[in-house]
Amino acid sequence: MTRTTPERPVDVKAPALVPEVSAHRRMGTRLHPRPGTPARDQSSVGGPFLWPAGEEWPFCQEPHPRGRGELLRDVRLRRRILAEAWSRPSDSGTPEGPTDEEREVLKSLRRGRHAPELADTDPIPLLAVTQLFTRDVPGLQGPGDNDLLQVFWCPFDRHGDGQHPGLHLRWRNAAEVTGPLIEAPEPKVVGRGDYVPEPCVLHPEQVLEHEYEGLLPRDLQERIEEWEEANEGDDEDKDGVGGPTYQHDLSIPPGWKVGGFASWHLTDPMPVDCSCGRPMDLLLTIDSKEWDGGSRSWVPVEDQPVVDELDANIPTQISLGRWGSLRIFTCPADPTHPHRVSLQ
Ligand SMILES: [Zn+2]
Ligand SMILES: [Zn+2]
Repeated sequence: MTRTTPERPVDVKAPALVPEVSAHRRMGTRLHPRPGTPARDQSSVGGPFLWPAGEEWPFCQEPHPRGRGELLRDVRLRRRILAEAWSRPSDSGTPEGPTDEEREVLKSLRRGRHAPELADTDPIPLLAVTQLFTRDVPGLQGPGDNDLLQVFWCPFDRHGDGQHPGLHLRWRNAAEVTGPLIEAPEPKVVGRGDYVPEPCVLHPEQVLEHEYEGLLPRDLQERIEEWEEANEGDDEDKDGVGGPTYQHDLSIPPGWKVGGFASWHLTDPMPVDCSCGRPMDLLLTIDSKEWDGGSRSWVPVEDQPVVDELDANIPTQISLGRWGSLRIFTCPADPTHPHRVSLQ
């Protein structure tokens, strides 16, 4: 099934907004991950990677504790128990959740020092987070003849200069993988279960975005505010009531995406510059939610029947804690320059 972003409830041709707004447009590609069983030759979140059996799997050696957390197998067991419990029919018609027996099992799945043998720099395999074939994702372009982007992370906080999982990117030419790895190595313990992606297939869709409001020229921001007031839109609007707003309905869609603009709704805009001095491009946004109360106008047509169902908006089960999203930026001039990570 495809995914289709509804028409914006905002008339972008409104006289108050043209022509200036049109100078701040860009295409992004919403990935629309949804639970499924992706194959290794498909784009996915949390699916198997197309990886040469003879090539070393990447691992993390940055210094940080890695013995304490949740067992990866416990994270998966908990999700399976909860998914089954809440989809099981009951006499009353509404699911009643886990049985007493299942609750006992759930209670036994605890954080702890599950790998005391690991010192702070022992190598641990990275988790496969997402692989993206350029043929599936409009706007995604690899260096040279590379057509497959693979994104890994180390599922513990405390990497780089922030509190986030340790990101690792790999571009490759898919045709060169002739003997694929069948079973990828995985870490035994994860710092946070919320960093373990559920297998999802993707439904990429190109969508027109508009630059974050705080980065627009001041006089245009003022005109947008006047236009919102005239439409009874309200920036405080979080429940979908009231008129449309630039930020919630026109600017930047929620959810996982490639390209487009970065939102700066939590910290105010900050420049993301490469070590070579160039402003970097937004490559990928990893989002905790595909929609929430403030972004309901972006819910794809096909998902509207399930919009309020439990967990429908967190198909990947990845949650970035107090941050909503993690963005990966890359150098526009030289893909070998280190990427940068920003949380929002
Ligand atoms: Zn690490
Ligand atoms: Zn650079």
